[in-house]
Amino acid sequence: MRKINYIILHHSATDYQAHKDDTTGKIIARTICERAQEDWKREYPDYVCDYHFIIGHAGNVFRGQPITSPSWHCTNYEINLISVGICFLGNFENIQMPMLQFNSGVGLVRDLMKQYNIPLRNILRHRDVVSDITHSANSTQCPGKNFPYVPMLDALRDGEPFFDIGEDYPYISEVKTLKQLGIIKGDGNGNLRPDDYITREEAMLIAYRILQMMQN
Ligand SMILES: [Zn+2]
Repeated sequence: MRKINYIILHHSATDYQAHKDDTTGKIIARTICERAQEDWKREYPDYVCDYHFIIGHAGNVFRGQPITSPSWHCTNYEINLISVGICFLGNFENIQMPMLQFNSGVGLVRDLMKQYNIPLRNILRHRDVVSDITHSANSTQCPGKNFPYVPMLDALRDGEPFFDIGEDYPYISEVKTLKQLGIIKGDGNGNLRPDDYITREEAMLIAYRILQMMQN
């Protein structure tokens, strides 16, 4: 079995259905897989899909590439080898994600995190991945500006105080306590950024909060 360290979230940047009778998105999901098979049939005759899972507008989960095989979904060769690609049908540059699709995505990601022991900080949007072509992140809009990434991470967070550290972080219990006491609050986007320098302003705020706590 290959190592799986990352889950990468995509949108299809298409309609969420092939036509109005395609209520679950099954037909458009199949079309997406068939196009990928066509693209890769010479190099990889067994290739099934660029994504391991495709999630429809009504929450149906369609299987694509077998999870035991890598697929070419995030423009980074190394990450492709050790990741699972999940595609949410629809174009989230333009539309909002329905609750059924959101909940189904959260359920699938949660199961995969458990099964492969993937930490929350390794759940990334396609655009967070450094592209092999441009050598930088944000080389794509995928999965779209309306993709509910932070709400999804929030739903997945199981007592982890910040997105960018997990249970394996060496000072996790200290961080949890300090966060509960309101002494540290992170960067405002849910991250601790433990390797960044602290400013004088932040140091003063932390000292002030400790003083206030001691006085109460
Ligand atoms: Zn993508």
